[in-house]
Amino acid sequence: MLNSTLSELAGALARGSISSVELTRLCLERIARLNGVLNAFITVDAERSLREARAADERRAAGRAGPLTGIPLAHKDIYCTRGMLTTCGSRMLANFVSPYDAHVVERFAAAGTVLLGKTNMDEFAMGSSNETSYFGPAKNPWDTAHVPGGSSGGSAAAVAARLAPAATGTDTGGSIRQPAAFTGVCGLKPTYGVVSRYGMIAFASSLDQGGPMARCAEDLALLMNAMAGHDARDSTSLERATEDYSRELSAPLAGLRIGLPREYFGAGIAPEVLARVREAIAWFEAHGARLVELDLPNSRLAVPVYYVIAPAEASSNLSRFDGVRYGHRARGYADLADMYCRTRAEGFGAEVKRRILIGTYVLSHGYYDAYYLQAQKVRRLIARDFAEAFERCDLIMGPTAPSTAFALGANRDDPVQRYLNDIFTIPAPLAGLPALSIPCGFDAAGLPVGLQLTGKHFAEARLLGAAHRYQQATDWHRRVPAATPL
Ligand code: GLN
Repeated sequence: MLNSTLSELAGALARGSISSVELTRLCLERIARLNGVLNAFITVDAERSLREARAADERRAAGRAGPLTGIPLAHKDIYCTRGMLTTCGSRMLANFVSPYDAHVVERFAAAGTVLLGKTNMDEFAMGSSNETSYFGPAKNPWDTAHVPGGSSGGSAAAVAARLAPAATGTDTGGSIRQPAAFTGVCGLKPTYGVVSRYGMIAFASSLDQGGPMARCAEDLALLMNAMAGHDARDSTSLERATEDYSRELSAPLAGLRIGLPREYFGAGIAPEVLARVREAIAWFEAHGARLVELDLPNSRLAVPVYYVIAPAEASSNLSRFDGVRYGHRARGYADLADMYCRTRAEGFGAEVKRRILIGTYVLSHGYYDAYYLQAQKVRRLIARDFAEAFERCDLIMGPTAPSTAFALGANRDDPVQRYLNDIFTIPAPLAGLPALSIPCGFDAAGLPVGLQLTGKHFAEARLLGAAHRYQQATDWHRRVPAATPL
């Protein structure tokens, strides 16, 4: 049962071959057994989960069940959950109990899902290894000496190790797709504005987007059907007709034009990653897709642009954590200014401070034009490259990350090296585009490789359809991690 996809579990619940309470118990037992090693969850509340599961079973008995009713899932600890700790992986919020639910949390509750708990993450979603978490790093279930990726590393580890059939994540520069790739699961970053950011603790507001993580593309579609939709409380939430993200799951591949940017297949990529990705692309070609070579000439500027814009927005967003309104406050202080200083010095970790420093610097008078404004202009060029590319192809494929999961502690003292890891995931959010990572094989050490599919705005269903066809023919997404056998 634990190795079933969410769609299969939904079927089992509908047939009555398992109840939500039984399924929830299985997950909770597995969490109790493995979370000590994986550190995937920051908060688990078994009583609450079982209460929700009983309510889901009653709802089903009353004939009011929807497709996700009774499905257990986990939320990244960046989503505010009423009455439950929401830490954002930070000491600053280590004691914060949210008085309200995020829109995404509300939507899943309305669909009748069962909350298993809140998953570990890089502090304020800043990182790509989960190592910046105040609660310690989550571990990769394929090899616990390796990182699960980040920032949604806890969600990725939980889904990969079968602690939860699905989880939510957020992606600013790759935080859904890169951990999905590192742990052999699937993750979708939707088009900017499709999922409400209300109650999702802000990192870089023009980039942040919530999305689903699960074992297969079909499951991502089901989750998107629940989590997408307009929300008046987020001014960037789009007003669009409701769409069925499953509608293209059986669309044929024949005639599909797959763009291959030369920049995504160049130097600096691990040879085994490149080999697995090329094999996957060859499968698509053998099944009717047409390959189109193209260029995204400005993508080489994506990392520097991101590391100006994201810290700039973060420095503004994080100014609210001042010891007055929520979270941590220093114990001893001389006056108000001293209270702010001590609170922020104690509450934030090194990476968050680094970003606040960079952000305030690039926004400061005298540097604004040289850095921030310049970055915004190049951001525009990156978006234009994609727009031109999508005149020649329907979707773009390449590796999700240049390597497989690296060892815990690697690059600890080299932030620039860490930032370069985001090279393939950063362009899509800069252009607001949807992008998906699915597993496409393993390296010699047994670590998963991720294939990234990027589409034009609102092409989620098409990306999911292409991924689903591939997953009907392959079983990478079915493999169970070595360190956490069933
Ligand atoms: N790794 C990137 C960063 O550190 C992306 C994080 C994210 O998408 N939240 O900013």
